[in-house]
Amino acid sequence: METKGPLLAALASLSEYDPNSMPVEQARQLIRKFLAAPLEQESIALSDALRRTLAEDILSPMNVPPHDYSAMDGYAVRHADLENAPRKLKIGGSAFAGHAYTGKIAAGECVRIMTGALIPDGCDCVVMQENVKVEGTTVEVADGHRPGENIRLTGEDIARGATVLARGQAIRPAEMGLLASLGFGKVAVYRKLRIALLSTGDELQQPGTPLVAGRIYDSNRYTLMGMLGDLGVDTIDMGAVRDDRASLKAALLDAAGRADAIISSGGVSVGEADYVKQLLDEIGEVVFWKIAMKPGKPLAYGKIGTSHFFGLPGNPVAVMVTFQQFVRDALRVLMGQQPGPPLELQAICAGSIRKVPGRTEFQRGILGHDDNGGLIVRTTGEQGSGILSSMSKANCFIVLPATQGNVGAGSTVQVQPFSQ
Ligand code: AMP
Ligand code: MG
Repeated sequence: METKGPLLAALASLSEYDPNSMPVEQARQLIRKFLAAPLEQESIALSDALRRTLAEDILSPMNVPPHDYSAMDGYAVRHADLENAPRKLKIGGSAFAGHAYTGKIAAGECVRIMTGALIPDGCDCVVMQENVKVEGTTVEVADGHRPGENIRLTGEDIARGATVLARGQAIRPAEMGLLASLGFGKVAVYRKLRIALLSTGDELQQPGTPLVAGRIYDSNRYTLMGMLGDLGVDTIDMGAVRDDRASLKAALLDAAGRADAIISSGGVSVGEADYVKQLLDEIGEVVFWKIAMKPGKPLAYGKIGTSHFFGLPGNPVAVMVTFQQFVRDALRVLMGQQPGPPLELQAICAGSIRKVPGRTEFQRGILGHDDNGGLIVRTTGEQGSGILSSMSKANCFIVLPATQGNVGAGSTVQVQPFSQ
């Protein structure tokens, strides 16, 4: 009897599953099912935490602000003093950010105060300097002030004990600052994901050397390095592997021993896939799909040992599209994050687009504004899956659903902006 691993067993139980024409969303969800629990944790310095993932909830150890502060430059007063005309107050002292006024304020007195300074004891209102008339050591305050005016109250932004950030949150610049503002010098994060990267193909030559006739430069590994760099993983660069079974087997087994996930490009399209398939059957559990999408039709996914394997197509644009549609969020899950669906916006299509129903197309688009501030998108032009300059010109994908036919100029389309 044939023994099946968990991947094949799960696929066999699906009622609708056609490996030769798989919808984008189904492939996304299937991959998601096999992504393992988050990694081990470690405690690291906040200064090293950018692009890591929080391994625990962050509760605020303090009130923010920690005291009552002035939100303006002006005069701190006792609001009760403003009830009695002529509202002339004597300046009893001054308070600056980092230099509090520690004296006692008597009735009829006020304190010159600057933004960020502690509110002196007894004061309950800050009158902006624009709203007073200074005469020597007294100020005359105009009408119409309320208690609490221009005061940032203790705990107004964040109360002590409140959950500020949840486990699984990616640490971006805003989180760096937020964690620092709460006094965290260290944070508990998941360890870095290790990703092995390799290209396949006898035609590949490395950049930096003159091109030999019949060869092409290996660009895929560099786009992948870039996209992985944005994610903040450790990349293990396995170079380019020749199209022969022994070399590929050695490279994949080496990668599986060292990495949480392996990303290869090339060698999964019809014609090349056969020996790669046999090899992967021998060393792992990998399925080969034809995704109903353009570009990016062939895709292999599975496991080699404990390592996840993503076999991307060889075409340079297809590599970027499949990485962005399938691999990036899969890696985020492995990093301990819970990525939501990609951000999609509606835009008016500036020109017409030819499209045959049947596959989801990811056309490269340039998104901008029309004269009224509405979103307008045009394609980058020629959309061949080898034209990498189209990705460089683009700032979004124009996502045309499988059912869609030709798109008329002026119609509304969905776009996925690239993160800048
Ligand atoms: P394959 O999927 O291996 O048949 O490759 C499809 C196309 O992508 C072929 O034209 C390859 O030459 C090209 N290709 C494959 N790998 C790379 C790479 N690393 N860099 C640039 N182009 C590639
Ligand atoms: Mg190839």
